[in-house]
Amino acid sequence: MSQSKRSMKSIVESHPPRAQLTPASLLSTVSHIERSTMRALPDSLLELIRRTSAEIPEDVHQAILRSLEQEKKGTIAESALKLIERNIELAKQKSQPICQDTGSILFYVDCPVGFDQIQFAETARETVTLATRKGFLRQNSVDSLTGKNDGTNVGPGAPAFHFHQHRSSEVEVRLVLKGGGCENVGAQYSLPNEALHANRDLNGCRKVILDAIIQAQGKGCGPGILGICIGGDRATGYELSKTQFLRRLEDRNPHPDLDRLEQDIVNTANELGIGPMGFGGKTTLLGAKICVANRLPASFFVSISYMCWAYRRQGLRLSDDGSIAHWLY
Ligand code: SF4
Repeated sequence: MSQSKRSMKSIVESHPPRAQLTPASLLSTVSHIERSTMRALPDSLLELIRRTSAEIPEDVHQAILRSLEQEKKGTIAESALKLIERNIELAKQKSQPICQDTGSILFYVDCPVGFDQIQFAETARETVTLATRKGFLRQNSVDSLTGKNDGTNVGPGAPAFHFHQHRSSEVEVRLVLKGGGCENVGAQYSLPNEALHANRDLNGCRKVILDAIIQAQGKGCGPGILGICIGGDRATGYELSKTQFLRRLEDRNPHPDLDRLEQDIVNTANELGIGPMGFGGKTTLLGAKICVANRLPASFFVSISYMCWAYRRQGLRLSDDGSIAHWLY
C-alpha cells in the first residue's frame, strides 16, 4: 500500500468521522504525517546532491570513453578527452565536484497525489544549503540585482523545482546540475528564419539546430548534449528542452521522425570538425534528444538547451521513510 494511502487509512482509523474533521484539517494531518514519516529524506537528498556533483552517470561516462577511442591518437581532441576522463575519475575517487561550476540546481520530482510538495521543497532547500557548506556544491547563486552571494545557493527560483503528480505511489527525485557556460549557448529560434532559410517543418528545425551547434563552437565546454523542444511557447519550450536531459544517452525516441532527426543531428554535428572544447576532432556532440509540444498557429519555436561534457544527472526512488530505495541511473 502506498505511503499516502497508508497515512490516510491510519488517519481515518484514529479519527472516526466527526463534524469538525473538515477536508482542510484532514489534508493538514496528512501533511504532518508525511513530514514525520519521511525522516530519512534530508540524508537521501544530501547523498543525491553529493553523488550528482561528483559522479558522471554511467551512460555519459561510456559515451566519453567511446569518443576517446574514436579520436585520432596524438591530436588535441584526444588530449582534451583524456583530460576530461582523468577529471571524471579523480572527482569520483575524491568525492569532489567534477567541475568548479556546480551549476543551476534543478529538481524533478514525480510524486503521488497528496504528496507534501511544500515540505519536500523546504527540506530540499535546507539540504542544498548543507551540501554547499560541505563543499558538494560551490557557492554559486547570486542576487540578480545586487550581485551578492549569501553562500547558501538558495534564493528566489534557486533551486528550481518541477513537480509532476502521477497515479503511482512511488516518489522519484531526479537532479540535474547545469553549468553556466553551457547554459549561455542555449538558443531559441522562431521559425520561419529567413537568414537560415528555415521553414516551419522538420528540415527547418534541423537547420536551426545545426546553426546553434555552429554558434556554440569553442564555447559551452563540448562535447555537448542537446535537449530540444519543437513547439510550445517560449517558456515551456525551454523548460521541456531541459527535461530531455533526464533521458539516457542510449535511449531511442519512440517517434520515428524525431528519432531520425536525433541520429542525424549527432552524426552531422560530428562531421563538422568542431571537436571537444572546439579544438577540432570527431566528437562535437555526445547526444541530441528531442521532444515536441503543441504550439499556437502563429508561433513555431525551436528551443535548444546545451549541456556540457560535465553532464551531471542522477535520480533516486524513495522508500516510505524517505530513505534511498533505488538509484535511477
Ligand atoms: S560549462 Fe560545464 S564544464 Fe564548462 S565550466 Fe560550466 S559546468 Fe564546467
